[in-house]
Amino acid sequence: MRKSFTELTTIRVGGEAADYVVAETTSELVDAVAQADATGTPLVVLGEGSNLVVGDAGFDGVAIHVKSSGLDIDGEMVHVDAGVHWDDVVVTTLEAGLGGLEPLSGIPGSAGGTPIQNVGAYGALTSQFLDHVTVYDRKIGEVVDIAAADCGFGVHRTSMFKRNNRYVVLRLHFRLTRTTVSRPVAYAALADHLGVAMGDTAPVTRVREAVLALRRQRGMLLDETDHDTWSVGSFFLNPVVPQVPEKAKGCPAYPDDGGTKLPAAWLIQHAGFPPGYGADWGRGRVRLSTKHSLAVTNRGGATAAEVMAFAAHIRAGVQRAFDIRLEPECDLLNCSLDDPVPAWLTGATTG
Ligand SMILES: Cc1cc2nc3c(=O)[nH]c(=O)nc-3n(C[C@H](O)[C@H](O)[C@H](O)COP(=O)(O)OP(=O)(O)OC[C@H]3O[C@@H](n4cnc5c(N)ncnc54)[C@H](O)[C@@H]3O)c2cc1C
Repeated sequence: MRKSFTELTTIRVGGEAADYVVAETTSELVDAVAQADATGTPLVVLGEGSNLVVGDAGFDGVAIHVKSSGLDIDGEMVHVDAGVHWDDVVVTTLEAGLGGLEPLSGIPGSAGGTPIQNVGAYGALTSQFLDHVTVYDRKIGEVVDIAAADCGFGVHRTSMFKRNNRYVVLRLHFRLTRTTVSRPVAYAALADHLGVAMGDTAPVTRVREAVLALRRQRGMLLDETDHDTWSVGSFFLNPVVPQVPEKAKGCPAYPDDGGTKLPAAWLIQHAGFPPGYGADWGRGRVRLSTKHSLAVTNRGGATAAEVMAFAAHIRAGVQRAFDIRLEPECDLLNCSLDDPVPAWLTGATTG
C-alpha cells in the first residue's frame, strides 16, 4: 500500500512511500524489518514523524510505522514498547507515583524516537532515565539489549542511533524514582514559571503543568489547528564552535566540551529572521513559527522543496551575518538544504 508522508509527518510535506506497513507488536516490527532486509527492500522506520522531513519524490521502499503498545511497570522499572506515544509514558509513570520524566512532558513522538537523538527539554535528557534499550540489530539479524552507557548519548541531540539505520529500537527500559517531588529544577524559564530558584524542587505534577504551559506558549505542543506547530520542533541544532567568530561576539555563549555553544534561535533572530518571518517569502506557505524562531513551519500546502529552500535561505543569512553554519537537527530523507531551488522560487529567495 502506498502512503503519503504528508499524513505521516508533523510538518506534513513529502511524497509517497512505495509501500507502507504498520507494526502493531514488537514481533511484527522485527518481522517487517527482517523481511525487507531479506528482499533487499530499502526501509525507513517511522514513529510519529515529528523529527523527519521527506522529499517530494517520496521514498522508493517500505515505511514501517511502529505502533507497538506495551507498557509495564515493575517497581521503579518501566518497560515501554517503541510505538507508545511518548507523552502517555510521562502521564502513566507520574500517575503510578514514579517521578523523573516530568520535564519531558508534551514532547511529540513515540517512545522509540526518544533515544534516537537523546530527546531533551527543560533541563532533562532521555539518557538520564534510560537503563537499557532493546534493539533489532540489522547487521547481525538479532535482538540485543544495549546498556544506556553504551548508546553514545550526547547532549547535542546525538546517540549511536542517530542517522544510523543499523538499529531498530524495539523496547525501552527506564529506571525512575518513586517520588512526587521533582529533581532539582535545572532550567531558568521553568524555575521562573514555577516561582522557585534554580536547583529547588517542586511537586512533579506542577512541573508537568508548567512545562506544558511553556511548550504551548512556544508552539512546541502539537495542535493540528495551529500552523505554528506544523513543524519538526527545532529545525536547526545549537551550533558548537571551537572559537566564537568575531561577528558573533554579541551572542550569548555557553561553555561546552566541544568549545562554545551558541543558541541557534538567537543567531536566526539577530540575522534578521524574527518569529513569523517568511510571510513575503516564496508563496508564504513556509514561515518561521510566530512563537519560536527555531521552528520552520508549513502554513498549509507547502512542499518539501519549499521547506528545504526556506531553511537554506535562513542558514545562508546566519552564515552571512555571523560566519556560523547551522546544521539541521531533524532527519532529512531524500531531501537536502543543498537541493536546487525550484525555478518558481528562485526569484523570491535572497539567501
Ligand atoms: C512541536 C515539536 C516540538 C518538539 N520538541 C522537542 C523537544 O523539546 N526536544 C526534543 O529533543 N525533540 C523535540 N521535537 C522533536 C521530536 O519530537 C523528537 O525527536 C521525537 O523523539 C521524534 O519521535 P518520532 O516518533 O516522531 O520519530 P520520527 O520523526 O518518526 O523519526 C525520527 C527519526 O528516528 C528514526 N526512528 C523513529 N523510531 C525509530 C525506532 N523505533 N527505531 C529506529 N529508528 C527510529 C526515524 O527513522 C527517523 O530517522 C519536537 C518536535 C515537534 C514537532
